[in-house]
Amino acid sequence: MSYINLLRTPTATHPLRVLMSACLSGIACGYDSTANGTYPSALKIIGYDNVNVIKFCPEDHSFGTPREMCDIHGGTGIDVLEGRAKVLTDSGIDWTDGMIRASEKMLEIALNERIELAVLMDISAACGSQVIYSGSRFAENKVYQIGAGVCAAQLIRNGIKVISQRDYASLEVLYSKIDPTHAIDTTRTDHHETEWYKTYFNK
Ligand code: SF4
Repeated sequence: MSYINLLRTPTATHPLRVLMSACLSGIACGYDSTANGTYPSALKIIGYDNVNVIKFCPEDHSFGTPREMCDIHGGTGIDVLEGRAKVLTDSGIDWTDGMIRASEKMLEIALNERIELAVLMDISAACGSQVIYSGSRFAENKVYQIGAGVCAAQLIRNGIKVISQRDYASLEVLYSKIDPTHAIDTTRTDHHETEWYKTYFNK
């Protein structure tokens, strides 16, 4: 949140440069060739003429679409990058190397485009930034963990600020930076402030 408060006020000639999970923008790059639902909180950003939204799907980059679903086993995205955890598909295929390559491509894009903020799809093994699955999401007792997916972790460890489409309080501040006439809805919360998060993770 504090980082977003420090963002400059963009103009049409000097737009804010935002990297977005391609599916959040409506592109059908999900594992099942859908856009993983509709997220007005992210689509709102695309509607401003003083924001340059760069869209990228790291899993499509490495594995194509449609593809299997994958999750992180044995840790979080940073653990994958540091060799302590793996990315496995539903059928058990090891996608670790491909996911790391995807994260490197996402970082390359972010640096080339001089990205000022990334808005990524939470829960994804690639793009998640707040909460991800621990092991397979198709397990009988699926388990969530706090942490980032592989590609979000790659951005974060290289100094790029990442928020999710569910960080509504941060997004409210972002909208007001983009559009100074936007009245911040102070009732909105970030994902880590929700009752679900606090209850599930005993915070
Ligand atoms: S890898 Fe990221 S951009 Fe691609 S479908 Fe999954 S969440 Fe969306």
